[in-house]
Amino acid sequence: MVSERVALVTGSTSGIGLAIAHKFAQLNYSVALNSFEPADSVAGLVAELNALGSGEVIYFQADLADAAASRALTEEVIGHFGRLDVLVNNAGVQKVAPIEKFEDGDWHRIVAVSLDSAFHSIRTALPGMADRGWGRIINIASAHGLRASPFKSAYVATKHAVVGLTKTVALEAAEKGITVNAICPGYVWTPLVARQVADQARVHGLSEEEVIRQVILAPQPTKQFVQPEEIAEMAAYLCSDWARSITGSTISIDGGWTAK
Ligand code: NAD
Repeated sequence: MVSERVALVTGSTSGIGLAIAHKFAQLNYSVALNSFEPADSVAGLVAELNALGSGEVIYFQADLADAAASRALTEEVIGHFGRLDVLVNNAGVQKVAPIEKFEDGDWHRIVAVSLDSAFHSIRTALPGMADRGWGRIINIASAHGLRASPFKSAYVATKHAVVGLTKTVALEAAEKGITVNAICPGYVWTPLVARQVADQARVHGLSEEEVIRQVILAPQPTKQFVQPEEIAEMAAYLCSDWARSITGSTISIDGGWTAK
């Protein structure tokens, strides 16, 4: 059954995107899940989310590093459900390396997955939201959309650009009942962070335990990882009517990182 609200969450088979999809399914939204993984590898996850509420949860395989697949995804979701009310641009990848060793392919993949895909999906989703006079666009940026760290040139540049895209589209959509915001998490314990511990250990010449203490949690004054569910609760709030005047904002959930 297609429920009252339809949401697309990109990169939603893991980490923050999965927590947001889980929350939306609990709220009886119909949810389009996405990743590059083959459908049979996420069949169990799709069944689990479908059991949470009355909406329909469907998986759309699309590698957002691929421009054609990225352009097609939002059209396919709208084609299936007939509309899209909530768009969460969450997919993101990381690479930790000094700029002089940063490879072209890594640079382009990071920009394509986080920034280009947000451009494609917003451009496709916006007209229908405007016609219905209601829409929510949430871009998962980062504390690195507001602050820099060494060895993350592509990620920091891309997340700053996502913040710029968020503000611009918020202004364009302001009179159409559509809000556009960026959530800027600090370090959230997800596979994306777990994977970079080894990379960070190599570039900083530290052990993995030292990396967690001295590098990863160093800028986060609470010295605690944010949990994915904290981001999901904020996403759900932004979709409520009480959040209709929050637009063009960067919402930090970073344990005080950007207070400095
Ligand atoms: P994660 O690695 O746990 O999940 C990323 C998701 O994106 C997965 O479902 C993965 O399959 C999908 N994905 C990756 N490449 C893709 C591609 N080419 N096409 C389609 N899907 C793809 O990561 P996460 O930590 O949950 O990160 C989610 C978002 O939050 C990212 O944009 C990330 O930059 C941002 N973020 C994370 C943190 C953190 O500390 N974890 C902090 C700030 C911002």
